[in-house]
Amino acid sequence: MKSRLVVALDGPAGAGKGTVCRGVAARCGLLYLDTGAIYRAVALSSLEHGVEKDNVEALAEIARTMPFEFRLDGNGAWKAWLGERDVSQSLREEDVGQRASQVSALQPVRAALLEFQRGYGAGVDVVLDGRDVGTVVFPDADLKIFLTASLEERANRRVRELHQRGEPANLTRIREDMAQRDARDAGRKHAPLLPADDAIVVDTSSMTPEQAVDSVVQLVEEKR
Ligand code: C5P
Repeated sequence: MKSRLVVALDGPAGAGKGTVCRGVAARCGLLYLDTGAIYRAVALSSLEHGVEKDNVEALAEIARTMPFEFRLDGNGAWKAWLGERDVSQSLREEDVGQRASQVSALQPVRAALLEFQRGYGAGVDVVLDGRDVGTVVFPDADLKIFLTASLEERANRRVRELHQRGEPANLTRIREDMAQRDARDAGRKHAPLLPADDAIVVDTSSMTPEQAVDSVVQLVEEKR
């Protein structure tokens, strides 16, 4: 029996991982898991409950017990739920992203979230995006991609995204926040942001979103 196809797609903040994964999932018939959303859910929950960023025990407890799941909405889009609340929007806030990058450096938090990621969509072909999917979560993934882009381009994309949503955006501040988050993710002891030795690096700096999706779809098709 053929085992399921696992595609691991890692990379820094704002490289376009979500856009690419959603496109690839739709075109190749894969289930998509945004692993960053799980770290963001721990972050959101800790902020809402006033848990300090260095309270390892309490943060690991949140990671072990939070009632987090993905549910399909009426339009066929996956939404992130914490208990009886759709938190998809709240998870995208900048302060939640920063806090996620802090709590994700803690090994007990990472360990608590590992099984959720490995067991997601058991038996089904999947694409997961994150920072350590190809190095830690699925070191034997069929295809590993490291999606990246220059800091300048990633910050510009984030500004455009916020403007489209009618939200204020300060390019300098966003660029600094991204650089800080990248440095923290890449410099941490546990599961740092790093391409796996056998990952294919895809630099999307001068690609349109469609071109980025096309190039990854092609890589997935070559594996089938
Ligand atoms: O990808 P996203 O920006 O949503 O991730 C938020 C934060 O969660 C990242 O900055 C990173 O610190 C952490 N993360 C992680 N490992 C993953 C996914 C996300 O450490 N697999």
